[in-house]
Amino acid sequence: MSKPVCYSTKAFSAVSASSPLSAAVIERRVPTATDVQIQILYCGVCHSDLHFARNEWHFTQYPAVPGHEIVGHVTAVGGGVKKFKVGDTVGVGCLVDSCRTCPDCRNGLEQFCSNMVMTYGSMDKHLGTPTLGGYAQSIVVTEDFVLRIPANLNLAAAAPLLCAGITTYSPLRNWKVGPGQKVGIIGLGGLGHMAVKFAKAFGAHVVLFTTSPSKVVDGKRVGAHEVVVSTNEPQMAAQAGTFDFILDAVSATHDLNAYLNLLKRDGHLVLVGAPAEPLPLAAFPLLFRRRSVSGSLIGGLPETQEMLDFCGKHNITSDIEMIRMDQINTAYERMLKSDVKYRFVIDMASLT
Ligand code: NAP
Ligand code: ZN
Ligand code: ZN
Repeated sequence: MSKPVCYSTKAFSAVSASSPLSAAVIERRVPTATDVQIQILYCGVCHSDLHFARNEWHFTQYPAVPGHEIVGHVTAVGGGVKKFKVGDTVGVGCLVDSCRTCPDCRNGLEQFCSNMVMTYGSMDKHLGTPTLGGYAQSIVVTEDFVLRIPANLNLAAAAPLLCAGITTYSPLRNWKVGPGQKVGIIGLGGLGHMAVKFAKAFGAHVVLFTTSPSKVVDGKRVGAHEVVVSTNEPQMAAQAGTFDFILDAVSATHDLNAYLNLLKRDGHLVLVGAPAEPLPLAAFPLLFRRRSVSGSLIGGLPETQEMLDFCGKHNITSDIEMIRMDQINTAYERMLKSDVKYRFVIDMASLT
């Protein structure tokens, strides 16, 4: 494979698991016929970025550029691009390519394709080096993996929809959460606060579980009908056996079994949080009442566009705290303390 023509763009990268992120210059390919070049205006900060930058999942190659909640303007398109033109407002999430032919891809479930290419940390088919994410001034992505952002949404607040949004929308849709159901959301972070907004919009009775008593007011403000402080045993006991569905969006090790006991017969607990360490699972809460535990990974391209259009129609965005690129290391430390309301978004103008 001959290396394509490239150009340089400014970025922020980690050079090892223990080093802070710092300024770097990286290469992007000059757009090929089917590519869209995007000037990145904002990029959300997902907890996955932190897990990845610090090699907590044990597959990071350095230098590593995180960032998969990307929004910006199209600055160039290849000759064969049909869906986008220069000036369009677009987004890129966690995927930048896949095989396009396997059953998963044909069903719009590109996230499960065994050859899917993640926005960072996968092998770049063009360059033969690891893909580099959105903590950068620009990115080049094949048009089928570029999404339209509804014009009525605040662009910075729409960035987190590209990961936190679709990761919570997809399981709530897949398990058909809706009116008449009692739904629990665990953790009021980037994913959790979007899950509360979507579950409310879908018509469910929403209960937020938080370890942070200081988030009770915000939990209700973003849409929860009830907020339970999960360290409060009487509050937890009062919810036993009452939930149809619980979405677990916690980034760290925690006790799943306490939540299994809150499910009704045939209730589902779905994990979207991706803690680095395994979570112990007791048999009895599953056996009694035939409860189940599943996982869910982001969402495919058609569903991501559906989610963005739903957000446009219902005016749903993320609650954000804007940061400069050089504040990213402090932002990571705050995220580890569950101290973000409720998603950091990088103003990429700060990188110029
Ligand atoms: P985040 O903003 O840091 O939120 C995580 C929340 O979990 C915190 O705000 C906190 O909520 C709760 N929490 C943190 N430590 C805890 C502990 N020790 N015990 C109990 N609760 C704790 O993270 P995020 O960006 O939403 O991501 C959440 C997880 O989802 C991460 O592991 C991330 O990698 C993963 N993720 C998965 C997918 C997927 O496709 N499945 C996609 C994106 C992200 P309270 O203060 O309310 O307790
Ligand atoms: Zn993410
Ligand atoms: Zn495929």
